[in-house]
Amino acid sequence: EPPEPALDLETSQITLADVGGLEQVKARLDMAFLGPMRNPELARAFGKSLRGGLMLYGPPGCGKTFIARAVAGELGASFSTVSLADILGSRLGETERNIEQIFRAARRNSPCLLFFDEVDAIGHRRSGIGSGWSGLRSAVNQILTEMDSATEDNTGVFILAATNHPWDVDPALRRPGRLDRTVLVLPPDGPARAAILQGKLRDRPVDGLDLDLLVKRTEDFSGADLGHLVESAAELALADSMRLGRARPITMKDMKVALRQVKPSIGPW
Ligand code: ATP
Repeated sequence: EPPEPALDLETSQITLADVGGLEQVKARLDMAFLGPMRNPELARAFGKSLRGGLMLYGPPGCGKTFIARAVAGELGASFSTVSLADILGSRLGETERNIEQIFRAARRNSPCLLFFDEVDAIGHRRSGIGSGWSGLRSAVNQILTEMDSATEDNTGVFILAATNHPWDVDPALRRPGRLDRTVLVLPPDGPARAAILQGKLRDRPVDGLDLDLLVKRTEDFSGADLGHLVESAAELALADSMRLGRARPITMKDMKVALRQVKPSIGPW
């Protein structure tokens, strides 16, 4: 018996209330996923199937993983990320076995949300020719089988996936009863940027920061870009503090210098 791959289970500490802004994303998640999962009888009465999962798509660094964690929190489910590296095996049949074991572990730890990150890498529609494809082809089939049985039988296993390249996702994964619902996650809007900035600044010394102005100046910044911005400002204040021999808080001036250094990484999407 091969050892079971450790499913890295997390207990999600957050819910959708912790997701700043993105009201449309939250409303759609409620309507298309959380609502039916919480009211299975009602959903079935209206002909809504509970099969399959939901795919988050949009530019990188915009909080898809954060949102997936929040959905797990809403469902009181444990959370685990599954990426290509976790499932790919080098020996014959190993990939399928890994997938099987991941789903088995999820069932045993249900309720459990499996988050397939960069799902386009698992089933890439354009890699139809060439080596490697046959291995992934059977991985996709194995995922489909497991997903069908886990979600059809209501085993308390929830499936979310994410991609920056929705058009590259294997069409088989997108069929009804599979990842048939999609939610677009765009760069954070104003309230989301405010929430992200507050989160990043929470444990750092600050003085007189104008959050509204920072929100205005960071249009098109991803969550990751906002992180870089705060880090850059913190470095400036730290360098100054070391020179002074005492801690000096992060000021608006640091933020403005940082704004000249850090540019949004997302173009028009
Ligand atoms: P993706 O999965 O889209 O590549 P990500 O999951 O890595 O993105 P980021 O956008 O890089 O997430 O966000 C980094 C951190 O910023 C998150 O861990 C979270 O603390 C915070 N964050 C992101 N979006 C929000 C939001 N809407 N509200 C509050 N905090 C957020």
